[in-house]
Amino acid sequence: MTESVGLKPCPLCGEPLAQLADNPDHFHPFTECFLEGMRVTPDQVAAWNRRPTPSPEAVEAARWIVAYVPNHTQGYTVARALLDLAKDQT
Ligand SMILES: [Zn+2]
Repeated sequence: MTESVGLKPCPLCGEPLAQLADNPDHFHPFTECFLEGMRVTPDQVAAWNRRPTPSPEAVEAARWIVAYVPNHTQGYTVARALLDLAKDQT
C-alpha cells in the first residue's frame, strides 16, 4: 500500500511530479501544462504510470481549446477530457 513506487514524469511536458511535504500525494508543478496542479494519490500511481503520451494532434487541439475558451478553468477541464479521450484510442 505504501511502497514507494516511482512516478513517471508528465507524458505531456516531461516535468517530474513533486512529493507533497505532509501528504502521500504527488502533484504536477505549475508549468503551463494541461495537467498542472493535478494531484496523484497513492492509489492512482499505477494509472498515472500507464498514461500514454497523446498524439501531437490531440495536444494541439487541447492547446486551441485552452486558448479560445474564455473561462480558464473550463478550458483546462475540456482539454484534459480531450486528452483522456485521445489516450484511449491508442
Ligand atoms: Zn505536464
